[in-house]
Amino acid sequence: MLTYRKLLAANKEWVQSKLEQRPDFFKELSQGQRPEFLWIGCADSRVPAEDLTGCQPGELFVHRNVGNLVPESDVNALSVLQFAVEHLKVKHVIVCGHYGCGGVLHAMKHGDLGLLDAWLANIRTLYVEHASELATLDDESQRWDRLVELNVRRQVRNVAGSAIVHKAWNEEQRPLIHGWVCDLKTGYLKELETRTPE
Ligand SMILES: [Zn+2]
Repeated sequence: MLTYRKLLAANKEWVQSKLEQRPDFFKELSQGQRPEFLWIGCADSRVPAEDLTGCQPGELFVHRNVGNLVPESDVNALSVLQFAVEHLKVKHVIVCGHYGCGGVLHAMKHGDLGLLDAWLANIRTLYVEHASELATLDDESQRWDRLVELNVRRQVRNVAGSAIVHKAWNEEQRPLIHGWVCDLKTGYLKELETRTPE
């Protein structure tokens, strides 16, 4: 079978299994969404948000890009954040990075990936800012892991510092902002930090 056909066949099986569990599953799903969580993760194929967290359709509002970035000037990410916070009224925003992130590794090197280099400049800046701390680590894999964590913390700071979140914190004391990292070698998520309304 052609590989893409496998996806369509798997979709039919998935629909059937959902209907067996709950005959009204799609009727209910089509009536609207009230997810409690916004997930901001990496586009990497190995970190599927719903699978990692056991979430069902309707439970996670998801934004993924290379390097799980929320740059202060990125209209795409900020539009997602605004919609999730102001309209869906999510209670939690989760920024999730992962060890072994190719985007982060590339930002540590001088490469030529065209447009992607401009996007990853957000992480390269972080790398330069923390150069002296990173230089104390023994090998590249440790520096890579550390930069993955620093990047998640920076994106949490960007989310927490946004006008969108400040407004929601002042008016409704939500959302909590979480920084997590997924360890691809074990599958486990690690909590780095949680920011509560100031
Ligand atoms: Zn990645």
